[in-house]
Parts: sequence; structure tokens; C-alpha cells
Amino acid sequence: MKAAVVKETSPGERRVALVPDAITRLRPAGIDVLVESGAGDGAWLSDAAYADAGASIVSAAEIYRTADVILAVTRPSPEAVSELRKGQAVIGMLAPMTDPELVATLAAQGVTAISLDGLPRTLSRAQPMDALTSQSNVAGYKAVLVAASEFGRFFPLLITAAGTARPAKVLVLGAGVAGLQAIGTARRLGAVVSGYDVRPTSKDEVTSLGATFVELTSVGSAAGEGGYARELTAEERQAQQDELTGHIARHDVVITTAQVPGRRPPLLVTEDAIKAMAPGSVIVDMAASALGGNVTGSQPGETVVTGNGVTIVGAENLAATVPTAASNAYSRNISALLLHLTKDGALAIDTSDEIQAGVVVAHDGRIVHEGVASLLPPAALPHPTPGGPGVDGTTD
Ligand code: NAD
Repeated sequence: MKAAVVKETSPGERRVALVPDAITRLRPAGIDVLVESGAGDGAWLSDAAYADAGASIVSAAEIYRTADVILAVTRPSPEAVSELRKGQAVIGMLAPMTDPELVATLAAQGVTAISLDGLPRTLSRAQPMDALTSQSNVAGYKAVLVAASEFGRFFPLLITAAGTARPAKVLVLGAGVAGLQAIGTARRLGAVVSGYDVRPTSKDEVTSLGATFVELTSVGSAAGEGGYARELTAEERQAQQDELTGHIARHDVVITTAQVPGRRPPLLVTEDAIKAMAPGSVIVDMAASALGGNVTGSQPGETVVTGNGVTIVGAENLAATVPTAASNAYSRNISALLLHLTKDGALAIDTSDEIQAGVVVAHDGRIVHEGVASLLPPAALPHPTPGGPGVDGTTD
């Protein structure tokens, strides 16, 4: 089987799907690796390093002509999609729940689409494949560095002949994977750190990192399914925003990471909260998105300074800005998934397997993932072949 690493093309994307180290681990499973020339450049991984590890360095055209499986970090561009052939497979973080039309297009072309974002993350045997976790870890770390570099003072307590600097007070809202990494990183930089989340189980995780857990009296548990949070009701949301305002005002730096699966990110930092912060304060909104983020007025990829001197950074794809670490981790995730999917030197698609049921979104000309199919109007679904498998992979 030929697995090919393509050069990522989305703006600012410097990660690469496989690092040279992975190539020797794939070979025993009958997987030969092709690498598009320059694919690793953004992560300082040269063509020569891939060639030394046993990969063939080829052009994009050769990849689309000869590869069985294309390995990517993010979604293929429209140009790349048009190059894909029937029977080829593409594996990446395809964001099928936000872009189901891409899955429909790939299915209609007969391309097998496999997305790491659908992995059942709580399954222990799936953990080596968990790219959402590995990339959130990198992003949480970088968010603190971004905040520290925007902040006009020190993070640690510094006692020098020129005087004593008090440590920065950092508040992390949302203590999932990225939030916990942000808490740990801010602590390592010497800040005094607090963390908050609507899932009560996060309290122990926050305090075990040496941070203080912020308890709100007005909002109870909002633990949802599968370890995620549920969306708050309008009343809970209002109460949360009001009570958080006082906490936010007492901090120099706020890092927000809150997400609810399938919903727009909750607004945690309101205009009133921003107005209550001291000049020179910094907010990094890791949830900034085109739909809105955790912070009023944050825009992905933009940094604004408010009239009262608060810097708001709308974070965008932070993992791509630590490209070597992010690629190393992603490479381990995608290699583990590829090995899981490979049998006798070929892809063996079997959606009765729990991992495959989560990640395989299109196969054999069909959308096989029900959650993705349900997001599309029936007319947009690729037409079933009579007697072929249904949308859910069952036979008529
Ligand atoms: P996520 O990106 O969906 O959300 C980030 C955090 O925001 C979560 O902790 C969530 O509780 C919090 N949040 C949502 N709404 C909020 C609100 N209104 N106010 C404050 N906080 C809010 O989460 P994630 O980082 O992907 O992790 C989600 C969960 O999955 C965690 O419990 C994590 O430990 C768990 N997880 C488990 C495994 C595993 O079992 N191997 C792997 C990965 C994640």
C-alpha cells in the first residue's frame, strides 16, 4: 500500500501529517510512504530527512496518480479534492460535522474519507490516535506564550535590585485538554493561576496543577455526555457571565478555551467584563471563530486593543504555530490510526469496529457516518447503488 504525505496548503498551516520517524514504523505493515517535495518545510523537516528514513520524494501529481491513501493534517483544498480518484482514501482532520458538503463530494467521487476528529476519545485503545487531544495540548501551551508576549509585565514574581515585580494573575476559563495545558504552562512561567469549568470533575484536575479552582455560586454542574459540557440555559448563561465578571476584573490575563460539541462557543467574557479589566490586561480567546467566541468582539487571527487598554487576541490555529511539536504528535496519532486500519498491506474498512465507526465518514460512494449524513438534505446525499450499503453502512 502506498501512503502519501501531501504538503498542507491552507494559509498559515505549517504542520505535516507524518514526520520521518514514522516511516520506519509503517514499513513492517506493508506501507510504503511517498512524500510530496517540501511537505515538511514548515516544520523544518527536509526532503532529505524523509528520504533518509526510506520515503520516496515525489510531486503532488504523482501522489494523486499513484497513492492508495493520502495523509493530511486538515481538509484538502478544492483543487486537491478534484485530483482525488475513486478508490483512494484520504485521512486527516476533515471537520466533517462543520463541512458535511466536503464529505458528500468525496463520497460522490468514490473516495474513502477518514477523519481523526470523529475518534471515540474515551476508548483507551483509541488514545494513541487522539489528534484532538494532542493538538489541543500544543495550542494550550502556545496560548500562554502568546498571552505572555502581549503582556507588558512579568509572569513570575521577580525580586531584583531594581525592585520586586508581583506575579501575573492568570485565569483560565474552560479546563479541558487545552485549558489544563494552559494552566500548567502559566504555572511553569511563575504566574498565580486560577481555573474554571462547568464540569465539577475538572476541579481536582485544576487544583492538582497547583491552580485555584473558581467556584461560581450561581451556576451548578453542566456536565454533559461523553465527558463534554452541555450548553447552558439562557438563565444559567446570564448568571455565569455576571458572576464571572468580578473574577475576570481581578486578573491580569484571561485565557478562554470553552467549547460545547456541536454548538457555537459559549460567551463567557462580556463587554462589561472587559470594561472592568485594568489597562494592560490581556485576553486570549482560543475559542474565537467566525460564529463568535468566548469573548465579546474577538475575531480569529486578529488582535485588538480596546478603548480601556485591554488586548484581545483571537487565537487561530495555534497548534500550527508550534509546527514541529504538533507534527510529531499528529504523526504518531495518524500512524496509529493507519496501522489500525491496515490488514495484509491494504486498508480494511469495517465500520462494525468502534474506532472505524467514528472515523470513517465516506466509503464505497456513500456517507457511512450517520451523524454527518443527518446534517445534509436528502437531495445532497450521494445516490445509493441498488442493493448496496445504506447511509449507515447496513445492506438494503
Ligand atoms: P472541549 O474542547 O469540548 O471544551 C473545553 C472545555 O470547555 C471543557 O472542559 C468544557 O467543560 C468547557 N466548557 C464548556 N462550556 C463551558 C462554559 N459555559 N463555561 C466554562 N467552561 C465550559 O473539551 P476537551 O478539551 O476536548 O475535553 C472534553 C472532555 O473530554 C474533558 O473531560 C476531557 O478530560 C475529556 N477527554 C477525555 C479523553 C480520554 O478519556 N482519553 C480524551 C480527551 C478528552
